Amino acid sequence: NLQDKLKLHNGIEMPYIGLGVFQMKEKEESLAAIKSAIHQGYKSIDTAQLYENEDIVGRAVRESGVPRKDLFITTKVWNENQGYDSTLKAFETSLKELNMDYVDLYLIHWPVKEKYLDTWRALERLYDEKMIRAIGVSNFQIHHLEDLAVNSNIKPVINQVELHPRFTQEPLREYCLGEGIAVEAWAPLGQGRLLEEPTIEHLAEKHQKTTAQIILRWHLQNGIIIIPKSVREERIKENVNLFDFELTLKEMNELNALNLNERFGPDPDNFDF
Ligand code: NAD
Repeated sequence: NLQDKLKLHNGIEMPYIGLGVFQMKEKEESLAAIKSAIHQGYKSIDTAQLYENEDIVGRAVRESGVPRKDLFITTKVWNENQGYDSTLKAFETSLKELNMDYVDLYLIHWPVKEKYLDTWRALERLYDEKMIRAIGVSNFQIHHLEDLAVNSNIKPVINQVELHPRFTQEPLREYCLGEGIAVEAWAPLGQGRLLEEPTIEHLAEKHQKTTAQIILRWHLQNGIIIIPKSVREERIKENVNLFDFELTLKEMNELNALNLNERFGPDPDNFDF
């Protein structure tokens, strides 16, 4: 059910399902979508400085009437603000935009070369000052995590990466599992591009669910946190209605076999910063 949570390595609990709000720009539509999600029981929202909608997220939370402490809000420091001082400043700006006095999870959005270690020190400081309940990273490869491990004091609680049946990230998942770092999938639905895949359509028919639900259920059974994005009420609802069926081991393997090691998004090692 929607109450299911994952315990991060610092003891904080994070919901397995959240609403992603990337590319939600149109203010009234976004506000309505986020409020509708919260009313349907979503407890977690994933935004970023880059998305330019932290203010809408904050407004939706306040207008929802659900106490702030019952929700889990994630935001991220954007690439051009990386570095120690500029990250501290960026965090302050995000808090102001959100109109909140703390954030549940703050992430380094991408591993900007030469900068992410300084950025991480800023996150450690904000965490020590209790401005953030948990700190993590996004788009980190194993070598970035190894670098962080030997050059920092606090281990990230989570790594948010592109992950879906076309790009299953098994080596990275195994590394994170060994380190106690949770894995969160962005583009869990392959940004909508996996919804007509024949194997997935076949499973959908078998279980009388939609292809989106089959993919999202695959993530959950792998212990992965998901943040599917939609502004449509019926899809927002569909994307959490995942607890009345189960994929068999054989079906999980059929989905695993769709992996082509194919990213739809940028490669963190060759991202044009
Ligand atoms: P996604 O895989 O969630 O796909 C979203 C698209 O799928 C929607 O635009 C919609 O068209 C479609 N969709 C959603 N639910 C559907 C349903 N039930 N039936 C049919 N179609 C449906 O892709 P995303 O939005 O890129 O990723 C999710 C979230 O991850 C983002 O909103 C954002 O919060 C986060 N994200 C993070 C990074 C990062 O670098 N850290 C990058 C991209 C996205």
